Amino acid sequence: MKHENERNEVVDYLRRMLVARLTTGSGGNISIRISGTDHFCMSPTGIGYDAMRPKDVVVMDGEGRVVAGKRAPSSEWRMHAAVYAARSDVGAIVHTHSAFAATFACLREEIPPVHYLIGFAGRNVPVAPYATYGSEELALAAAETLGRDHNAVLLATHGLLAVGHDVGMAFTVAEEIEFVAQIYWQTRAIGTPVLLSDEEMQRIIEKFRTYGQQIPTREEISPAAPTSMIAGSDSPGDEESER
Ligand code: 13P
Ligand code: ZN
Repeated sequence: MKHENERNEVVDYLRRMLVARLTTGSGGNISIRISGTDHFCMSPTGIGYDAMRPKDVVVMDGEGRVVAGKRAPSSEWRMHAAVYAARSDVGAIVHTHSAFAATFACLREEIPPVHYLIGFAGRNVPVAPYATYGSEELALAAAETLGRDHNAVLLATHGLLAVGHDVGMAFTVAEEIEFVAQIYWQTRAIGTPVLLSDEEMQRIIEKFRTYGQQIPTREEISPAAPTSMIAGSDSPGDEESER
């Protein structure tokens, strides 16, 4: 089967979407770009995630033609194609119907910087104007509102669209923004949330670039450095954890 890894990942992350309560039924969809091309693996339309198999995932080109697979693609394939065409940095797209994000999407209110984790999406999460699900109009509205500066956008009276350099990151963006949406809802229910300033959000977005375990690549380290420091070799902590 062509692009087996990507097709496996699409099904795996759709199931994770259900477990993480980011959608219900066969709502939402996921795609993964075939690296370095305008082709992408797209989840099929209307198949429950427990029943879905990797062979049900279709491969599409940038024009929306199915080039591999027998199923009909997601009704939202135009939205996925429009984002890949506009953003060469995007390697995967996760669309959810998560409840708190959808609440603000139905109010047609953006999510402001109520918690620093909004930095996964940018300084805020804007709302794309309403258009019927699956339409070209929705595809254009979503891609335009996402622009270059956001990794997530609310789809008016519908749900959330999240992007990342890979499917793990796009999924993380969707999860973190659902958390921030819940916090925003809760703070508004019992008080008045204090928002972070533009300046603080800028600082946070900068810090996110180097967050986590930074493992230098072979080119970044001197030839004398121990091999445990090279990406892909055993991590420094492995020996200790086996004791
Ligand atoms: P599909 O099953 O066609 O992907 O549709 C689900 C959805 O979320 C539509 O917006
Ligand atoms: Zn949807």
